[in-house]
Amino acid sequence: MAGEPQDDCLFCKIVAGHIPATIVRETDTTVAFRDINPQAPTHVLVIPKVHYENAAALAAAAPQAAADVLAATQAVADEEKLESYRVVFNTGSGVGQTVFHAHAHVLGGRGMQWPPG
Ligand code: 5GP
Ligand code: ZN
Repeated sequence: MAGEPQDDCLFCKIVAGHIPATIVRETDTTVAFRDINPQAPTHVLVIPKVHYENAAALAAAAPQAAADVLAATQAVADEEKLESYRVVFNTGSGVGQTVFHAHAHVLGGRGMQWPPG
């Protein structure tokens, strides 16, 4: 059924507690944990507990869960005392999505340039 945990999904395993993660925040519908390969001094992933392959699919099928993810990104930024931060939803392997369970990257603690150069 749509949104159900997937046996082969890394982030569903983190939600279930089957794979350890450094969890910084948890609500009824979301989990936030530190990225294992941080790209900034603060790099936290915020995921919905339901399984959808990317943020677009999540927003279409479960808009309240998508809103909860967005609210959690702000709560994490507040808790991490980030004045400025970037929220990224990689959507598709062509832009580097490697885990196909919707997630927001919350990145902060250093300057960022976009576009580069
Ligand atoms: P994506 O590239 O799909 O947008 O982001 C997936 C993120 O998950 C990557 O930044 C990667 O470092 C992170 N990641 C992959 N495996 C694990 C893991 O086992 N634990 C944690 N905490 N993060 C992971
Ligand atoms: Zn999943």
